[in-house]
Amino acid sequence: MNEILITSVRVIDLRFPTSRDHIGSDAVNKDPDYSAAYCILETNSALEGHGLTFTLGRGTDLVVQAVRYLSRYVVNRSLSSITDDFCAFSRQLTDDTQFRWLGPEKGVIHLATGALLNAVWDLYARAEKKPLWQLLADMEPAQLLKAIDFRYIDDALTPEEALDILNKARGNGKSQRGQIVREEIGWTNKLMVDANQKWGVLEAIERTRQLAALKPWWMEEPTSPDDILGHARIRREVPEVRIATGEHCHNRVMFKQLLQAGSIDVLQLDSCRVGGVNENLATLLMAAKFNVPVCPHAGGVGLCEYVQHLSAFDFLSVSASIENRVIEFVDHLHEHFLTPVQIRNGHYLLPTEPGYSIQIREQSLTRFAYPTGEVWNESKE
Ligand SMILES: [Mg+2]
Repeated sequence: MNEILITSVRVIDLRFPTSRDHIGSDAVNKDPDYSAAYCILETNSALEGHGLTFTLGRGTDLVVQAVRYLSRYVVNRSLSSITDDFCAFSRQLTDDTQFRWLGPEKGVIHLATGALLNAVWDLYARAEKKPLWQLLADMEPAQLLKAIDFRYIDDALTPEEALDILNKARGNGKSQRGQIVREEIGWTNKLMVDANQKWGVLEAIERTRQLAALKPWWMEEPTSPDDILGHARIRREVPEVRIATGEHCHNRVMFKQLLQAGSIDVLQLDSCRVGGVNENLATLLMAAKFNVPVCPHAGGVGLCEYVQHLSAFDFLSVSASIENRVIEFVDHLHEHFLTPVQIRNGHYLLPTEPGYSIQIREQSLTRFAYPTGEVWNESKE
């Protein structure tokens, strides 16, 4: 096969006017227009790589610009030059000598990094004619490790320990699968409570205690997502309720500390907030080492489409368990995707199309592009 060369990057500011119906609003996000900074890697072949990062309304402006700036690192690169040393590529994005100041590895610049890295993974999976979860599960453990940046986390998880986890899951995974699925049949409904960062630590302790009577399966984002020790204190003082967070956790270092500090019972990674698949591989492995189940954050635009691959890979190759693991699901905006998630009987069905399931239909890209799309012009009076 000829070498795939990335020739250009199209970046689209995509916004859905969800605030008109207050869809997705919560305690702090009062008028969210669910949006995406969307990028398409164009190549010298018929293949494209699609990626997005989820954001809200006006914020999309900034993320789109950041994706455009970072595009310089993929244009005129061959796909194999990236995938042969994926960690070096992710470092190029996160270590840009002038953008690093804006993070490092957090905020707008990291959201943009996630969109681009995910687009490269989508292209890679399409080139290999596999859905992403399968591409990951089929990769040799040593090859997977080459995609992970262990800098800043090797005091919690060494490459050798990560390799052990992957090898062990390989040995166990297959025999456990049928048994686990059987055990899981007959789940009763569970109640999860999401505070969306509303409270200070003391109020969170008090309210979580009150809510304990309802026996919630977990309490989510009880306080500032940056407060690692605050979460640990809430968890310590209200041991009867499991504490969950992660959708606003901006990188693997913070996840490391949440785990080391004993702050969480449930780790809710996000597919876009961190540096794409690469950084999420690090997070999945750390969670496995600390024996904390991963229940990805989803909803938004395309987050369900993305995280289904990460959870499938977690089950097949890392934790080898679905015990206490669920994926968030919100049933809207899926119609814009070429291969939307499929849910049956409360379960995600494994995607089978090659890629990362994130391609948005061309007509949606046109209709919802901001500010030129028809949906935004209708609203201007
Ligand atoms: Mg939440």
